[in-house]
Amino acid sequence: MEMRVAIIRAGMSGLVACKHLLQFGFKPVVFEADDGIGGLWTHTIESTKLQSTKQRYQFIDFPWLSSVKEDHPSHYQVVDYFNSYAQHFSLIPHIKFNSKVIDIDYVSGESIEEMKSWELWGGNGRPFGSKGTSHITVQHTKKLSIKWKLPLKKYGMVPNHSILQDLSTCLFGVFSNNFFDKLKEGSILIKE
Ligand SMILES: Cc1cc2nc3c(=O)[nH]c(=O)nc-3n(C[C@H](O)[C@H](O)[C@H](O)COP(=O)(O)OP(=O)(O)OC[C@H]3O[C@@H](n4cnc5c(N)ncnc54)[C@H](O)[C@@H]3O)c2cc1C
Repeated sequence: MEMRVAIIRAGMSGLVACKHLLQFGFKPVVFEADDGIGGLWTHTIESTKLQSTKQRYQFIDFPWLSSVKEDHPSHYQVVDYFNSYAQHFSLIPHIKFNSKVIDIDYVSGESIEEMKSWELWGGNGRPFGSKGTSHITVQHTKKLSIKWKLPLKKYGMVPNHSILQDLSTCLFGVFSNNFFDKLKEGSILIKE
């Protein structure tokens, strides 16, 4: 049976780990808290560029596209480069986006005492050489967006603060059933 290996983070390092594990016949699953590839390069300030030259910052098996002329590509170009790498090596199906790892529990393997006595990684110096498995707890991070379909603008009721401010002060109103229908028919009047 293919051994499943969890990789946390789909930045540059996670992508490389995923690609190599696939080549060695493992079954990797990459957990990424964000909704896309790129890691820190998707969270930098607008002016960020690669400090290294692109020749010194490239995957050994996947050079930069010839369309990238700059020696120090922008962070957008870096993200594009990582995405091309992931697509080229068919890594995307192995990545679980919006999945933040919040806990790892090593179970049904060696005891802590046994592990403390190891002189080599995994007890025998081989990657994934130990007997146990890990239980990984993942939190889904996809942000919910709530769209209100209320005719607030029509009746001059758009607040000049955010709903989060309302919620944080607990000072928010709730519309009664058919409020807007009653407003329309005139059985409810709004006073300034
Ligand atoms: C501004 C800046 C410029 C840099 N420039 C260069 C340069 O020019 N040359 C160079 O060699 N290096 C540079 N570096 C170093 C940089 O760290 C590496 O180039 C590389 O991109 C880092 O990749 P990474 O995979 O280690 O991590 P990251 O790119 O940090 O990716 C980590 C990913 O893990 C995700 N994540 C985090 N926690 C969890 C979790 N619990 N569960 C699931 N997902 C999680 C994050 O959402 C993120 O997508 C720079 C770093 C910075 C900050």
